[in-house]
Amino acid sequence: MTTKLAMSESSRAQDIARQAEDFVRSVIIPFESDPRQGDHGPSEPLVMEMRDLARRAGLITPHILEDGTHLTQRETALVLRASAISPLGPVALNTAAPDEGNMYLLGKIATPDQKARFLDPVVAGDTRSAFFMTEPAVSGGAGSDPSMMQTRAVREGDAWVINGRKAFITGADGAGVGIVMTMADEGATMFLVNLPDPAIHIDRLIDTIDSSMPGGHAMVTIDNLRVSDADVLGKPGEGFRSAQLRLAPARLSHCMRWHGCCIRAHEIATAYAIKREAFGKLLIDHEGVGFMLADNLIDLKQVEVMIDWCASVLDSGAIGTSESSMTKVAVSEALYRIADRCVQVMGGSGVSRDTVVEQIFREVRAFRIYDGPTEVHKWSLAK
Ligand SMILES: Cc1cc2nc3c(=O)[nH]c(=O)nc-3n(C[C@H](O)[C@H](O)[C@H](O)COP(=O)(O)OP(=O)(O)OC[C@H]3O[C@@H](n4cnc5c(N)ncnc54)[C@H](O)[C@@H]3O)c2cc1C
Repeated sequence: MTTKLAMSESSRAQDIARQAEDFVRSVIIPFESDPRQGDHGPSEPLVMEMRDLARRAGLITPHILEDGTHLTQRETALVLRASAISPLGPVALNTAAPDEGNMYLLGKIATPDQKARFLDPVVAGDTRSAFFMTEPAVSGGAGSDPSMMQTRAVREGDAWVINGRKAFITGADGAGVGIVMTMADEGATMFLVNLPDPAIHIDRLIDTIDSSMPGGHAMVTIDNLRVSDADVLGKPGEGFRSAQLRLAPARLSHCMRWHGCCIRAHEIATAYAIKREAFGKLLIDHEGVGFMLADNLIDLKQVEVMIDWCASVLDSGAIGTSESSMTKVAVSEALYRIADRCVQVMGGSGVSRDTVVEQIFREVRAFRIYDGPTEVHKWSLAK
């Protein structure tokens, strides 16, 4: 079921996407060799420099319009894919995770006062945000199964006191806004906090396979964090319901962005195959190489169609839990195959850091785990 974009929506999104892609190709790709990047993502000065350029080009947070409304999901797919022609693009344009999902959730359920204090600075690209849900596996905390959450919020007068540990919190280091998920007597509850806060301690940055997200992924201890009643996001006890609102679109937007990156990886691998010779002819003229690139084209088209289908479901107002699970599995697995083939076609250059293909391969490997590992989505679909 793929519906046509209304003409006005279509041209508005295509216009933004075209500008975003041109900007990323001409201005952001040169930053890919900038030394201000490390194992835990681009540094803060690099992020701010790129955002400044995006702001001046009128392209900061391009999926949210001036009146605060968001493009439709199908429009967002065009724009986010275009913004991610480089792994640095989403960070530069403020379409990256976890901010994009956090902005979506706050736009849906934050109060006007909360929006002014927590959402507006993130939409402006002035600060980053983090979503605190997962907990350390070693102490039996929440991972694939959020109901195992151990972090607790206890009421004290008109405030709450929160204690617990969190793991893999993307961007917590350096973020200005946090959404902290806890258990409480009422049930799962979300809180908004300004960061840094002395009660939220970054124990360490976890060394992971990926490296595109500013601030990396933190192991965090929350020690007697006090949050006022006014900063409960949504209602006490409704944390899982609110998380569901964020999950399907956030999962889909990862698909959109990594789709853009894999288009780029395929371009680079193709450029290599049409120039490099072996055994008296160009690589592309060896059937084995041609088949790998043809398989990429087939997978890329399936990815595009699947994203478009799921986006249409969400645009219809449905919660899209099953559809986004199917899409997340199909797309993350297909993108991994694509990136792996790009590496293979390029031989030694494919595993070198001379091109961004090596990074894209690492990034999509991690994507098969976060926002629900493949097996968890399949298990939940099978139920
Ligand atoms: C790069 C990265 C960034 C992340 N960013 C954030 C973040 O910003 N905020 C946040 O809160 N979390 C974040 N996470 C955490 C992520 O959401 C979890 O890693 C994920 O939910 C899996 O939990 P776990 O790591 O504890 O794996 P586990 O729960 O220990 O699962 C391990 C494996 O068991 C298998 N498995 C589990 N359940 C089932 C089942 N029912 N059926 C079959 N197999 C199953 C799967 O293969 C799974 O991969 C991030 C993770 C990564 C890798």
